[in-house]
Amino acid sequence: MIKNNALCDFKNLPSFSSFKIEDVRPAIKYLIEQAENTIEQVSSQCESTWEDTVEPITAAVDRLGRAWGQVGHLNSVVNTEDLRVIYNDLLPEVSDFYSRLSQNKEIYQSFNNVYDAKGPNKLNGERIKLLENELRDYRLSGVGLNEREQKTYQELSKKLASLSAKFSDNVLDATDQYTLNITDFDRLKGLPDAIIAEAKSKAKSMHKTGWSFTLKAPCWVPFMESCIDRGLRQEMYRAYVTRASDCGAPEYDNSKIIIDILGARCKKAKLLGFDSFAHLSFATKMAVEPKRALDLMTELSLKARSRAESEYEILKDYASSHLDISNLMPWDISFVAQKIKEERYTFKDEDLRQYFPLKRCVNGLFDLLNSLYGVSVLEKQAEVWNPSVKLYEVKDHLGHSIGYFYMDLFARNGKRSGAWMDDAVGRWKTGRHTQIPVAYLVCNFPSATNKSSDAYLSHNEVETLFHECGHVMHHLMTQIDELGISGINGVEWDAVELPSQFMENFCWDWNIIKKISSNVSGDGHMPEDLFKKMVEAKNFMSGIQTLRQVEFSVFDLLVHLDSPAGSLEELMKILEGLRKDLSVIPVPEYNRFPHSFSHIFAGGYAAGYYSYKWAEVLSADAFGMSQENSMSLGEVGAKFLEEVISKGGLRSSLENFIGFRGREPNIDALLQHTGLSEPA
Ligand SMILES: [Zn+2]
Repeated sequence: MIKNNALCDFKNLPSFSSFKIEDVRPAIKYLIEQAENTIEQVSSQCESTWEDTVEPITAAVDRLGRAWGQVGHLNSVVNTEDLRVIYNDLLPEVSDFYSRLSQNKEIYQSFNNVYDAKGPNKLNGERIKLLENELRDYRLSGVGLNEREQKTYQELSKKLASLSAKFSDNVLDATDQYTLNITDFDRLKGLPDAIIAEAKSKAKSMHKTGWSFTLKAPCWVPFMESCIDRGLRQEMYRAYVTRASDCGAPEYDNSKIIIDILGARCKKAKLLGFDSFAHLSFATKMAVEPKRALDLMTELSLKARSRAESEYEILKDYASSHLDISNLMPWDISFVAQKIKEERYTFKDEDLRQYFPLKRCVNGLFDLLNSLYGVSVLEKQAEVWNPSVKLYEVKDHLGHSIGYFYMDLFARNGKRSGAWMDDAVGRWKTGRHTQIPVAYLVCNFPSATNKSSDAYLSHNEVETLFHECGHVMHHLMTQIDELGISGINGVEWDAVELPSQFMENFCWDWNIIKKISSNVSGDGHMPEDLFKKMVEAKNFMSGIQTLRQVEFSVFDLLVHLDSPAGSLEELMKILEGLRKDLSVIPVPEYNRFPHSFSHIFAGGYAAGYYSYKWAEVLSADAFGMSQENSMSLGEVGAKFLEEVISKGGLRSSLENFIGFRGREPNIDALLQHTGLSEPA
């Protein structure tokens, strides 16, 4: 037993004030050892029951997961050199443990025995579902393969990991090594001062005169939107779309890596008995089969196409009448679109910040949660990792505690960028006690400019806050007792964004905006005219944007669905074929977007890129129900709670959705929400 180590203290809330870096290594090693002992003990039993098989394994893995989760969380929000070293040092050991467990034939067999023995009195629905998920995941990890196949499987997994890492490195290096160097100041017309200043110091750092522009997003995006010199835009465009390809520096060429990745993924899928990698990927997805996702994309593209065509005409007309550009090219699109946007909407995103004081937004959000779910959110005194962090307790209408969440909103040194929700503790009810769920809500908003005033959010940041809060509620409001399927656990990968994007919709609802915004003098709300302009600006160029997302999604599905492309030519042929149907903007022959498509070749989105649009369809459709049927917030919330967010991973998310909406999802609400069709 390990004493006085805060990481091994599993009282409900993590103990942050007594956290010591020197505790990390002994705690994690001890918990892995304990889990290994439990696994060995369970493996040696002759009979398997729920209580002496599934429960002890779950408990041991949960303890390790909670301790390691706390370390990972602190590594993300208060990163120090010491903590990072220990974290990276222990990471392979922890990953190895999980990988060994996922391929442990004895445990798989024991779980199978518990499942096979299921009878009306032995297992309830939650336990059956949990075991089905577990057994499926064991099979997807290759536990059912013979020794020779298992070896091939492991080799393929290793090969894929290193190919993906190489792909990602090539994109990064190809992006980093390129600069556009300009010595003539006259050619910088139109560029924002901040970008010019940044380019000046970049040139200086490389001992060059003039200005050096890079392909990194903070430079590339405003450059393409505002550089008046058309020749420079063309040069930057070409550099950007040929990154890490056969048209760029040969040492960063991803062509062969892409072909190798597709080949290895296909082999892995076939080894596990699937027709293609896409089919393997869909084994854990709500969309169930690739065809359903493809059909959805086709339907969206058909609806978006005519809008995209007319948007393209608007761009062409404006370009020739106002900007003297008679043949609109891909490197003109952002530039022309930005000019039209500035003329039409007259406000910049940053101008909206003054209308959203943080306190009012947070209070308005908590009021909304109360209207939807009848819960109260109360601030609690607690140990935290930074003085600006707050802990909240969520209570139901009877005053019973449902769960807790930490809210860490402000950017600071040593904190990873971006916004996310993470689970600290999952709900789990055993015969002895109930573990109450706990979550982290993390954002990177700018803090107040001086100590006595409030911080202000851009509208985009308000959406982020609502989004992450949607994930938190999904995790806390669960009524499922089994840990593996409670809260966000066991929910299909392409359905987890439904509760979060559902909340985002409220940021476009005037009734809610009135409650979370104020006017410039600090009372009342923002002007309604301005809000209407925001809605119009949101939908600007939505046809072209939708087609673009559809093109990426369909490309991703097609290359993983059929037998893998054997050469770059074959791959580009697939892309050309679908561009004919999906793109209204002509693309030059040298465009190599697959070579930097890291989401699918280096990230977790292979045969899954469609899920961005999928989640938008689901959330808009779910949100649309309240408007269609003039339901009150309380009615919508009660139904959403009952059919979706209380259910965790107990049912398929499609069943949840149908339970809520009364039918399968369709795209009409999203088309309305993005201005691609008029409200019925
Ligand atoms: Zn999310």
